[in-house]
Amino acid sequence: MGKKTVEDCDVRGKRVLLRVDFNVPLDKESGAITNDERIRAALPTIRYLLDKDARLIIMSHLGRPKGQVVDSLRLDPVAARLSELLGQPVAKVDDCIGPVAEAAVAALQPGEALLLENVRFHPEEEKNNHEFIKQLAALGDIFVNDAFGTAHRAHASTEGIGHFLPAVAGFLMKKEISALARAGKRPVRPYVAIIGGAKISDKILVIEELMKIADKLIIGGGMANTFLAAQGYDMQASLVEADKIETAKALLAKQAESGKTFLLPQDVVVGKSLEDAQGEVKAVDALAPGDMALDIGPVTRAAYVAALADAKTIFWNGPMGVFEKDAFAAGTNALAQGVADSSAYTIIGGGDSVAAVEKAGLGDQINHISTGGGASLVFLEGRMLPGLAVLEEREDDPA
Ligand code: ADP
Ligand code: MG
Repeated sequence: MGKKTVEDCDVRGKRVLLRVDFNVPLDKESGAITNDERIRAALPTIRYLLDKDARLIIMSHLGRPKGQVVDSLRLDPVAARLSELLGQPVAKVDDCIGPVAEAAVAALQPGEALLLENVRFHPEEEKNNHEFIKQLAALGDIFVNDAFGTAHRAHASTEGIGHFLPAVAGFLMKKEISALARAGKRPVRPYVAIIGGAKISDKILVIEELMKIADKLIIGGGMANTFLAAQGYDMQASLVEADKIETAKALLAKQAESGKTFLLPQDVVVGKSLEDAQGEVKAVDALAPGDMALDIGPVTRAAYVAALADAKTIFWNGPMGVFEKDAFAAGTNALAQGVADSSAYTIIGGGDSVAAVEKAGLGDQINHISTGGGASLVFLEGRMLPGLAVLEEREDDPA
């Protein structure tokens, strides 16, 4: 990875400001944490720092409070769950800067952990504001970034603070970057990339990049409709991004030049509404008025799974259809099974694709499940992650 990690610094007795991504899903009614995977993902770094007798100060955001205090987005339930998982108390304060935070930090002993309040309660967090960064930085001696899921954002607690304190990576950051690098510039080949999800517009840059890197590119989900429309098919009532048809045409032309395999659906499962109990299989040139393509069809499913056969590396982002509905989940489930069965090094990123794979019970058969959908795409686009770039380089390994 080329960056210094927690293992490269002496943290004993030091105030370590650790940024994590504890942006966990909450139950709308009870406010309870419905999935604590993001908390668990940060445990190796937290345990390591506590074992090394750091005074550990943890920062995170939760949801989108838009720079205001929102009681339902306080981090108290997260502190409680973290404390359970660690088997030791985790103190929590009601602000991330100012007198209450300073007093709590001053009282912190080596080997103890403190969770600061949701950093996004301050509008300065997302603005990467200088004065706010200084107040945060004053709480610690070392900055550790383990928030891979927010590494593509240049916010005060993810990037700005790294300019004020010695800054190193946590174990999750290191694991994510090492795994995703295998789907980057120099993959073990054949490399098959599968891109799906709702819209082309979210993923144009990553499609362009993967067209260069991958040996085969498989396209599914809503975005396939825009490509099919660009090829001249009438997609009827399907989700098509009219303003992206020209872009799709350009991508198709570029692909034709490269001569690499680019797979689009031959058949789809259509419905008249998302609530249809059962879809109908149609060839892509046979949609009728009112038809919405909501999943890939069985011929396409088989072709896509077959395309994985010789892969040595597979990256997957974005479901093949509206997998939330059973009638339109078969394509996503078939690909999930295909990826799970593959002997390739397999990586899945993207909130919905990860949810689909977990729902199918196949999570433990995947080599790497990324905790950051957006961040993993930015990384694969070849763009810099600000929360990573700000960390110190290892002297022996400047790459
Ligand atoms: P990820 O979170 O894995 O990156 P996205 O957020 O890009 O994936 O897309 C997931 C969403 O795309 C899901 O809610 C799914 O229902 C929707 N989707 C997939 N296929 C279609 C389709 N054919 N038409 C409309 N929506 C679709
Ligand atoms: Mg999503």
